Amino acid sequence: MANEIGENQIIVQVKDLVRVYRLGASDVQALRGVNLQVEAGTFVALKGRSGSGKTTLLNCIGGLDRPTSGTVEIFGRPLHKMSESELTRWRREHIGFVFQTFALLPTLSAYENVELMPRLAGKGRKACHQQATHCLELVGLSKWMHHRPFEMSGGQQQRVAIARALANHPSLMLADEPTGELDSTTAREILALFRRIVKEQGTTLIMATHDPLVDEYADIIVRLQDGQIVNG
Ligand code: ADP
Ligand code: MG
Repeated sequence: MANEIGENQIIVQVKDLVRVYRLGASDVQALRGVNLQVEAGTFVALKGRSGSGKTTLLNCIGGLDRPTSGTVEIFGRPLHKMSESELTRWRREHIGFVFQTFALLPTLSAYENVELMPRLAGKGRKACHQQATHCLELVGLSKWMHHRPFEMSGGQQQRVAIARALANHPSLMLADEPTGELDSTTAREILALFRRIVKEQGTTLIMATHDPLVDEYADIIVRLQDGQIVNG
């Protein structure tokens, strides 16, 4: 088990979340009062059209963005009470992010991209090595460890990004359109990998996507429309 959080425990609690962006003289209401609870060990798909607020919600949950009003609690910890430096450290320890464009460092090998995470978290050399090799094995890339991103397919690069997100044993993974750049066969492989990680590692996953394939893999579908959840 990657963490000590039991099943049926609420890991994410979002209350009355509002995020307004100021754009010149006008306001954009990206989130208009979102309430959401996520239990530990579930795969939640956040669906909705482009502009419905998926990325904004994910960023508020991961502490990358601050809501205008409302609260986010992760394992009972209110994020708005943390300073920027506390939030940075907390994110590194507890959250794994995966993005649409993989966001790998191009001059580093797959191994170095993954190993960087435990290193930034202050782990010792041996632990960094173990975590990186273990996570690359988990995503089926042991043989590609020493390749750089440009030598790999999109699906392989996304696997490296998933290994990197897992490297510090996060309790919560947040993925923003992780299959957006992939063909449907590769997208299925990546979704199946996420499914397996949730099952085997006990990780909780929230994935923003408009990929219809996700319906076959997620436990719960949450629909966003114009900054509001439409199906409770
Ligand atoms: P999605 O991920 O579902 O496509 P977003 O969360 O990116 O939706 O965006 C929700 C709304 O907020 C959109 O209308 C978008 O244009 C607006 N928005 C998002 N980020 C910003 C920003 N930094 N500044 C201004 N408006 C933004
Ligand atoms: Mg988005």
